[in-house]
Amino acid sequence: MDLMQLNKERKHISEISSKNDGQKVTVAGWIYDQRDLGKIRFIVLRDISGQIQVTALKDKSSKEIFDAMAKTSRESVVVITGEVKKSDKAPEGREIIPESFEVLANAAQPLPIDVSDFSKTELPKRLDYRFLDLHRRRAQAIFKVQSTLLQAYREFMVSNETIEANFPAIIGSSSEGGTELFSANYFEKKAFLSQSCQLYKQMLACSMEKVFAVFTVWRAEKHNTVRHLNESRQFDYEQAFANEFVVMDVLARCVQHMVKRVVELNAEELKLLDVKLNIPGVKYIPFSEVAEIMKKEKIHMGADDLSGEAEKKLGEMYPDTIVFVHDWPLSGKPFYIMPKGEKLSCGFDAIYQGMEISSGGQRVHLPELLTERLKAKGLNPKDFTSYIDSFRYGAPPHAGWGMGVERLTMLILGLTNIREAVLFPRDRDRLTP
Ligand code: ATP
Ligand code: MG
Repeated sequence: MDLMQLNKERKHISEISSKNDGQKVTVAGWIYDQRDLGKIRFIVLRDISGQIQVTALKDKSSKEIFDAMAKTSRESVVVITGEVKKSDKAPEGREIIPESFEVLANAAQPLPIDVSDFSKTELPKRLDYRFLDLHRRRAQAIFKVQSTLLQAYREFMVSNETIEANFPAIIGSSSEGGTELFSANYFEKKAFLSQSCQLYKQMLACSMEKVFAVFTVWRAEKHNTVRHLNESRQFDYEQAFANEFVVMDVLARCVQHMVKRVVELNAEELKLLDVKLNIPGVKYIPFSEVAEIMKKEKIHMGADDLSGEAEKKLGEMYPDTIVFVHDWPLSGKPFYIMPKGEKLSCGFDAIYQGMEISSGGQRVHLPELLTERLKAKGLNPKDFTSYIDSFRYGAPPHAGWGMGVERLTMLILGLTNIREAVLFPRDRDRLTP
């Protein structure tokens, strides 16, 4: 069938209802399953919206169609036109009796991975064949939810009069110090892939007031964990005339809106993934109080950082809650976080379902203090001249945060490995597909 015509005539499977009983429809998709009972042959056809049974009878269908139903391999792409019939035996309550059956693309056999709903193929192998893994409903469900999160983030930000921004991914020098950078050749110069848009979003907030981005970051961390990627995406936010409490509140409302939209729009995906999702509550705890709790619980944590175990404990104590750990020790936060007295800072982490989803805080907007903080962190202010200078000509106090897109997806869906939440993961060992 001509593809223009197919686009006009095609119905997505989820659109087919009792209204179509007795009508002729055209559907297109992938062959998910086949069964041959001699005189009767079944196909389960799947498209992005759902699946439906296609039933052919030896006596009633053309020989050509009846043969094709058995011959065409699983995951091949077909266009089928036929009559919709109510059927109590069909899993979805109705079936299509095919009158035409066209193969658009054959799937080579054997398939390198099991793409059934009950697939036991291990994650690394599935990722080797990610394009085929994405035929699976479960994989599709994860990225439908992630798509909702991305849209809902924009929805929330735009409705709060926040301006969407794009930032450079190639930078001339380290934006933060600390984490390892990937280097790149940039004509005669050495350049790096951005590890965050921190410095740029700050510069921008100092003129545009409220800005947001969905920004890709690269971190050359050598460890391979289930919660880190070497390339990940972040929801970034920065606001002028704000301290950390202003932006924690924005973060809480933003995540609540995002989760609410997933609950509203992805009921089917949540059911498929067996996830019961609640709109999270909010809890604020100073770092010192968390330290006391962990001491009582005999859970190890650092003097200026939480441990994975401490994050997990907070998740158990406050399920379905965004836990803001604030008044963070100054030594545990980067140079650009505003000090609060001698020892503390205006920095915070947000913990959700037992893992960090975001770090943020009020920033240092005073050039002299910034120079001092860089030195205190063992960094050379000369390497940050243009950044420091950007605050010399009327920079208001400002605050913001960054939240991992894949990290949030993983936690909302209870996935045990962050690689499930990224289409084409980049980790220590993986650069393809
Ligand atoms: P973590 O302590 O979990 O390693 P971080 O403190 O190094 O994270 P930040 O620089 O605070 O990370 O980044 C902001 C957010 O981005 C984190 O809270 C997390 O949600 C996400 N994130 C950070 N690093 C990674 C990574 N390597 N892979 C995936 N997501 C990440
Ligand atoms: Mg952090």
